[in-house]
Amino acid sequence: MLRRTALASLSAGFAALAAGPLRAQAYPSKPITIVVPFAAGGPTDLMARIVGERMAKELGQQFIIDNTTGAAGTIAVGKVARAAPDGYTIGIGHLGTHVANGSIYKTLNYDMLADLVPVARLPSNPMLVVTSNPFEAKTMKDVVEYLKANPDKISGGTAGVGSASHLGALAFFNATGAKYQLVPYRGTGPAMQDLIANQIQIMVDQSSNSLPQVRAGKIRAYAVTAKVRSPVMPEIPTAAEAGYPMDVAIWHGLWAPKGTPPEIIAKLNAAAIATFQDPDIRRRMEDLGQDLPTPAEMAPAAFGAFHKAEFAKWKKILEDANVKAE
Ligand code: ASP
Repeated sequence: MLRRTALASLSAGFAALAAGPLRAQAYPSKPITIVVPFAAGGPTDLMARIVGERMAKELGQQFIIDNTTGAAGTIAVGKVARAAPDGYTIGIGHLGTHVANGSIYKTLNYDMLADLVPVARLPSNPMLVVTSNPFEAKTMKDVVEYLKANPDKISGGTAGVGSASHLGALAFFNATGAKYQLVPYRGTGPAMQDLIANQIQIMVDQSSNSLPQVRAGKIRAYAVTAKVRSPVMPEIPTAAEAGYPMDVAIWHGLWAPKGTPPEIIAKLNAAAIATFQDPDIRRRMEDLGQDLPTPAEMAPAAFGAFHKAEFAKWKKILEDANVKAE
């Protein structure tokens, strides 16, 4: 009896030992879900779809896009933080969802630094100050003067308090001293549709979402929120050139629930790195004004350190500016 128990526990021990490497070898054996915190058709959804399609090829499994929208991404991030740490649920997010929200929302049911592990840093893009076509202004200065002369007459879209477009609007208010009314959407994909339809008149949005509409003549662009003009949109001046310096870039990233085995994180990270070595994807990203991180910057440890540093930097900025969700 004793011998049997000993044997049984010995074989259980072997099974446990084997489970580590086996589990990693078998991974992924079913589709992987990427939880996207904003609506379909917006910049984060676009990034998720590009990344998911290419990572699927690398890993031989489909990636399912799950748009869990609302509350500026906090519902989606909580969903990932509480998901099984088995590599089959990961989350995408950005400077807003994974940094700003941590300082703005006081009652989150997760800790975005402690309950998630970094998978890979993803590209970053500047923002564009854009208006609907009927909003007739020639320059950024005209936009600012109009807003100052007509306080709160104009509505602008955001993806909620703490979203990238909200941070962009705050940077705009800060730099110009002008204001507009903020209308929250479930993402700047739907907000862009309303901007095109002149339901709202202004937005500070990521170049990946706004530039294609500017090129199609559906909206107007006045300034880019980077220190220098972008080579893919050289005709758009920097906000600083108009006298309103702004320096906001929205980086994206991938995270997994805490406890996801490191060998699985390594597989996901390698697939993400391979994605951004693909010349077609690089071209597509760069054409939208995206800056691509290097493989070293994309590594989980480097991305984790970057995430922590960004968190500390923005905590101070947002607390000083007294930005609150309520
Ligand atoms: N990234 C958001 C989206 O995909 C927009 C935002 O954060 O402003 O809709």
